[in-house]
Amino acid sequence: RKGWLERLKTGLRRTGASIATVFTGTQIDDALYEELEEALLMADTGVKATEHLLADLKKRVKEAKATNPAAVKGLLADAIVALLEPLQKTLVIGEFKPTVIMVAGVNGAGKTTSIGKLTRHLANGGASVLLAAADTFRAAAREQLAVWADRNTVEIVTQEGGDPAAVSFDAVTAGRARGRDVVLVDTAGRLPTQLHLMEELKKIKRVVQKADPTSPHEVLLVIDGNTGQNALAQVKAFDETLGLTGLVITKLDGTAKGGVICAIARERPIPIYFIGVGEKLEDLETFNAREFAQALLA
Ligand code: GDP
Repeated sequence: RKGWLERLKTGLRRTGASIATVFTGTQIDDALYEELEEALLMADTGVKATEHLLADLKKRVKEAKATNPAAVKGLLADAIVALLEPLQKTLVIGEFKPTVIMVAGVNGAGKTTSIGKLTRHLANGGASVLLAAADTFRAAAREQLAVWADRNTVEIVTQEGGDPAAVSFDAVTAGRARGRDVVLVDTAGRLPTQLHLMEELKKIKRVVQKADPTSPHEVLLVIDGNTGQNALAQVKAFDETLGLTGLVITKLDGTAKGGVICAIARERPIPIYFIGVGEKLEDLETFNAREFAQALLA
């Protein structure tokens, strides 16, 4: 576990460096709060979450009667934890068989890699996994997913040039028939237009529901932690279209924009099931608010 926390710290150091330096002085004054506001905004925390954190921090400073900036830094960590803790949830499987997990995300976000990592994580927990390659338009996407299926020695349902909804339907039906624990549905990240993409994702969801009326049990969005405020826009857009149940935030091992998690917590509090902290199969971790706050302010 230590290795990944170090990577997260190294990654977030670029976000947090400017925040941590705010507390190196000797005075708690308006200038400190102004500098902090700037640093939080620079880290992509967004206006609303920044205002919220500052107000909460001032309250905590007053209550604790803090007298030095180092103590204020500790209280800021507490304020960040309080904001992020509601997002710290565990992905539960086992209630349904199979648990159908639909995974969405724009191209390049790290969706395919995250599905590979998630497959490994679930398999390590003893679950049998079936992958559905519903991004049927891009041959490369299918091939990449097949590589991850191979690495994890799990089955994959795909169909060259087939209909994404039909592939998803077949995969869920096969998962039920074969008694699999989890069906992971990989969806397209880009189509000719954004409107097409959202319509297609809605259709996949509808058709999956036909194959198993209790499903999909989870609708996950994979977002790149490097995209800053745009990540929040993606969360909102996909949530409005699909009704998200959880997030995977990737590339936190090298971002200056990790503060966007605070913005998500404030404006669209959807559980963060996992964070990506590297390119390898095992580089997926559950999200912990305290660890994240500490890494951010390290
Ligand atoms: P997709 O288009 O959303 O399926 O994205 P991919 O899964 O192909 O990932 C795009 C790139 O991001 C690849 O080079 C991945 O290795 C890289 N990537 C994905 N997740 C992470 C992560 O958590 N950390 C780092 N450093 N790179 C990642």
